[in-house]
Amino acid sequence: MTTPADSPFVPKGEPRPLSGQTCGYKPRAAPADCGAPGAWHVMWDRSSRDNSITCAEHMDLIQQRWVYDDRHPISPDCTMPGALWQHDNERCAVPDSNEHLRAPAALTITAPAAG
Ligand SMILES: [Zn+2]
Ligand SMILES: [Zn+2]
Repeated sequence: MTTPADSPFVPKGEPRPLSGQTCGYKPRAAPADCGAPGAWHVMWDRSSRDNSITCAEHMDLIQQRWVYDDRHPISPDCTMPGALWQHDNERCAVPDSNEHLRAPAALTITAPAAG
């Protein structure tokens, strides 16, 4: 019987929190990032795509002290490779590879035939 300590694999346990979705705020005196579960995805500067994930507590701090471009509640897509920030929808989304197949059908307005 193998003991967990000998196993090269991480034992199965609690569902893992979404990878990379922890607060990246690092207090000046702290040795590491906050690390709390992320609550908000903050876009600091959309031209440089400078963005970060922050917990609810540090979102409060950010609102008190800094100016940011946009924000939205965190979603699983936020840290997906290739996800795009959608300012209008207030979320991140991974572009659908079949997007071109789902383009809205052209709408043709036909005037009712006279008489
Ligand atoms: Zn935090
Ligand atoms: Zn996001």
